[in-house]
Amino acid sequence: MTNQEIIDKLLNGEMKLYQVDKEVDAKTATDIRREFLEQKYDLKLLNISNYTLDMERASARNIENSIGVLQLPMGIAGPLKINGEYCQREVFVPLATSEGALVASINRGASTITASGGVNARVVSDCMTRAPAIKCENVGDAIKIKQWFVDNFDELKAIAESTTSHGKLIKIDPILIVGSYVYPRFVFSTGDSMGMNMVTIASEKILDKLAEETTATHIALSGNVCVDKKPAAINIVEGRGKSVVADILIPEEIVEKKLKTTADAIVEVNTAKNLIGSAASGAMAFNAHYANMVAAIFLATGQDAAHVVEGSLGITTAENRNGDLYFSVNLPDLPVATVGGGTSLEVAHEGLEILGVAGSGKAREFAEIVASTVLAGELSLVGALAAGHLARAHQELGRG
Ligand code: NAP
Repeated sequence: MTNQEIIDKLLNGEMKLYQVDKEVDAKTATDIRREFLEQKYDLKLLNISNYTLDMERASARNIENSIGVLQLPMGIAGPLKINGEYCQREVFVPLATSEGALVASINRGASTITASGGVNARVVSDCMTRAPAIKCENVGDAIKIKQWFVDNFDELKAIAESTTSHGKLIKIDPILIVGSYVYPRFVFSTGDSMGMNMVTIASEKILDKLAEETTATHIALSGNVCVDKKPAAINIVEGRGKSVVADILIPEEIVEKKLKTTADAIVEVNTAKNLIGSAASGAMAFNAHYANMVAAIFLATGQDAAHVVEGSLGITTAENRNGDLYFSVNLPDLPVATVGGGTSLEVAHEGLEILGVAGSGKAREFAEIVASTVLAGELSLVGALAAGHLARAHQELGRG
């Protein structure tokens, strides 16, 4: 078949979009689907069609029904000095966004941090979770199934770990019971991968064993106690992905020179907005805009973008310490990776290379960099609100 014959079949409904891949290579299939759209809607998709990415590889792992590539502007903020356990150096952070003023604001925060000697960052917990929904006869049965997980932990750990060389089952905790349903939360360490595929495959093996040995049936491999891609208190308390904390003490003169405000003014904004305002509105996140920094880094480095909802969680604290400003960010739920998933896409890999964290052995270092960047952006925005010039920055940089 010629390309036009395939497009005609798509247009008259004789062929489905995914069937194009069976006829031609991934790059040609991509062109055909895009041309199908162009002909159907009388469009010219000149930008989506322009890319350097290896579509053969991407189609094997990252995308179905491809039509091209999305471009977003990418900027850098830095140098950002980090005094972490894994990252002890200055970095320039790649940020992909269409929100004018964001990179400039993070850059201002980075400059404040670096002038103050650097941000302290630590990974305090590192795990990925999967919690299936299991159906039992009744509550009595559910309690027995819960006990089955406790009694057989060592064997279930061996079964789970037979599916992966990097994944380790750390614990099954909590094991929730709701009526006749049981939700065991499998907690894994996943090395430098974000781990969702890894833990899902491993969890499936455990459920095979459950089916062999008990009368319980699993209703869903994910029972929403995981909790993947939703904001949830259990992730905040127990941690998910990397749990990262970062803090800094900024001398009074630097607060005044760089942020044009005072520690007192920043503390008041943080209290009124991030703490009281968030509490009053029933928000789950007590911060100004972690999601902005997390999203821009995630897009620049090939993280799973839907995990921004988890990375947006956390609490910002600010204290006046004799005129100096103590400032911290706390991210309990930051799923990040330096291998696997979207990190192997060429642009994402380059983003990780800018940070010096592409590949194995780098995920915790990367997590410290993300938290440090979050602190930079958070500090800058809270500082701008305190100085009363947020609207002006947006007017000048975002509406040019
Ligand atoms: P993955 O690319 O499926 O798996 C990571 C792979 O990297 C594993 O095969 C692992 O091998 C290997 N690996 C090599 N070096 C490693 C190292 N240093 N540390 C850890 N692993 C290493 O990625 P994933 O992280 O498990 O899952 C991420 C993907 O899952 C994303 O694309 C995301 O969109 C998707 N996702 C899936 C689900 C789901 O329910 N399945 C849900 C949300 C998101 P070994 O396993 O042999 O160790």
